[in-house]
Amino acid sequence: MTRYIISLINGDGIGPDIASSGKNLLEKISDTSQIKFDITDVDAGDNALIKHNKALPEFSFDSIKKSDVCLKAPVGEHAADVILVLRRYFKLYANVRPAKSYPNIKSLHPSVDLVIIRENTEDVYLGWEFPIGEDAVIGIRLTTAEASKKIAEYAFEEALRRDNKKNVVCVHKSNVMRIGDGMFSKISKDTSRKYPRIEFSESYVDACAMNLIRNPEKFDVILTTNLFGDILSDEAAQVVGGLGLAPAGNIGKNFAIFEPVHGAAFDIANKNIANPSSMFLSIKMMLEWLAEQNKNNERNNLIDLGKKIEDTLISLLEENIKTIDIGGNMHTEEFTKTFVSRLIV
Ligand code: ATP
Repeated sequence: MTRYIISLINGDGIGPDIASSGKNLLEKISDTSQIKFDITDVDAGDNALIKHNKALPEFSFDSIKKSDVCLKAPVGEHAADVILVLRRYFKLYANVRPAKSYPNIKSLHPSVDLVIIRENTEDVYLGWEFPIGEDAVIGIRLTTAEASKKIAEYAFEEALRRDNKKNVVCVHKSNVMRIGDGMFSKISKDTSRKYPRIEFSESYVDACAMNLIRNPEKFDVILTTNLFGDILSDEAAQVVGGLGLAPAGNIGKNFAIFEPVHGAAFDIANKNIANPSSMFLSIKMMLEWLAEQNKNNERNNLIDLGKKIEDTLISLLEENIKTIDIGGNMHTEEFTKTFVSRLIV
């Protein structure tokens, strides 16, 4: 029996609601299975700024550093002061964002199963913007060979781990950003030679955005740069039914942070209508990552638990038990209660 320390960032907007749903699920697992969790609540984001004068206070940072893994609900206006700092500190170079069709969700495409592998440390996210006088700004976009190689390798390894189509498409805009994206493209092509079993192709980001709507079933693994990955993953989430079902993982060598793809959604905050499924599926990804770190016999238990979380969601959706955002009538708390009681571990 292993105990895992999980730092839980409660966040802003709908963050606290879905963080609480996630906590209920983790407590159920901890109470009824051999996998045990110690959950540490962590203050970070707009609320933390008001309370402690810092979006990511030192003691919150310390709690996260002491944990085995972090689960994060969305943070509001000060997201950049939290997640970008954490991604950089823990060198979380891969942002993994699956988009998958589930039953009874209104969508034109019922059999999508793809994952976006987004480079997570470079590109315009470094915030290198320099005003030139009053009415111009120069922005710098960083691309390095080292980060491009690491994310390309992650994407091909991910394609091997997945049991379906086995193809990787590298998405960029090398016809405009000839040097930076030219290098990203060349490195992905070079990496593909080490993986002869995986079909490799390339696409400009505009064509990819169109094909994600026209023919999303064709995609398996999308390998791309930071900003393009951010945009394409919201699009992919909507193609399969909306952000309420979209999980993500920020993965590094020794640490990872799992979080919904969506933001704090202030328009629906404090209404008890947020869909906590994005959090439940983020927990599934977290368990799979813990399994990867854990090569002993608990590995299978963790993978099994992750599958049970997804199966619980599928069985509820098949019975049309769902939240308002995806055409149901359940509120956050009620759906969470039903979900947690239906999960048999
Ligand atoms: P950010 O830029 O921080 O990612 P955003 O402006 O893209 O945020 P989100 O907060 O991601 O906006 O959400 C976009 C919309 O999707 C929200 O306004 C909300 O209506 C819907 N939405 C997002 N997450 C959920 C959820 N868990 N349940 C229900 N609806 C959601």
